[in-house]
Amino acid sequence: MFWNDIVGHQEAISMLRRLVDSDRVPHAILVVGSKGIGKGLIAHTLAAAMLCQADAGKPCGVCASCRKITASSHPDLVRFESNGENLKIEQMRDLQSAAALSPVMGGRRAVIIEDAERLTLPAANSLLKILEEPSQSLLFILTAESVHSLLNTIVSRCRIFRLAPVAADSLEVALVKAGYSADGADVAARLSGGRLGRAMALLEPGGLIARDKALAVLRQLPEIRTLSGWNAVIRLEGSEADSMPEVIEQLIFLLRDMLLLRCGCDSLVFNIDLSDELNEIVGGWSEAGLRRALKTLMEDSRALTGNANSRLLCETLLLRLREYHAVS
Ligand SMILES: [Zn+2]
Repeated sequence: MFWNDIVGHQEAISMLRRLVDSDRVPHAILVVGSKGIGKGLIAHTLAAAMLCQADAGKPCGVCASCRKITASSHPDLVRFESNGENLKIEQMRDLQSAAALSPVMGGRRAVIIEDAERLTLPAANSLLKILEEPSQSLLFILTAESVHSLLNTIVSRCRIFRLAPVAADSLEVALVKAGYSADGADVAARLSGGRLGRAMALLEPGGLIARDKALAVLRQLPEIRTLSGWNAVIRLEGSEADSMPEVIEQLIFLLRDMLLLRCGCDSLVFNIDLSDELNEIVGGWSEAGLRRALKTLMEDSRALTGNANSRLLCETLLLRLREYHAVS
């Protein structure tokens, strides 16, 4: 729970530390960034720093408050996590009651609401009511993937901190330090899109299933001509645990790497462990075909998020991929 444990995000951390040290932390903070980038860790560390009883170097890790935080038993820290479910009005009503209580251990209480985009409209309105009556002793820390999925009236009451992707080099160092193999860490860091959480998920058993499926699509591209054929490839591993958008994301990385290999820029390749295989596959593609396929996938994959017909959209995308390959 120390600031120094967080990988990357130095700009946001410096600003937050300055605010904590000068006791000028606004009453509501919104941490924005993509999934797995480290929003939860920053929210948790900020809450620990705000509740820490030391005079400086907060969070100190040793005071009574910090020890309670470490034990997940701090009476003045309330944390709401969506765990993929909506955050409901009942939870915000509980929060309203909790917000009215005086701090137990010190002068402050902190509330963390992770995945604030999962607040239902009534729950968001209930939270808004609490935010409209700021209390000096109550700090709100919200996290979300985007400000656009939140009520404007909530966003406008928060100080926003946007987290940018972390450099692959920094992620790789952190992963090796955490005990992952250097080879695995290198590939996961490059494929993670600058998100430590994503890199760690890729290194879990089965973490690369989406990439395996994307590679299978590219390998079998010349032979497959029907939608059912595509489905057979996508379900190759017999698991639906990973989502179609993830397979498409991995396809984008693989096509990007193939383009780089074709241009001789081997050192920039993400999937370095697949270089030989990709070099073989790229032989069947023209540079123009690769560029068109990559452009289409990148443009259309944005439409996948939150689209109820994502499966249909993916299948259409894959068929277009086949066309670009055939043209090559
Ligand atoms: Zn402390």
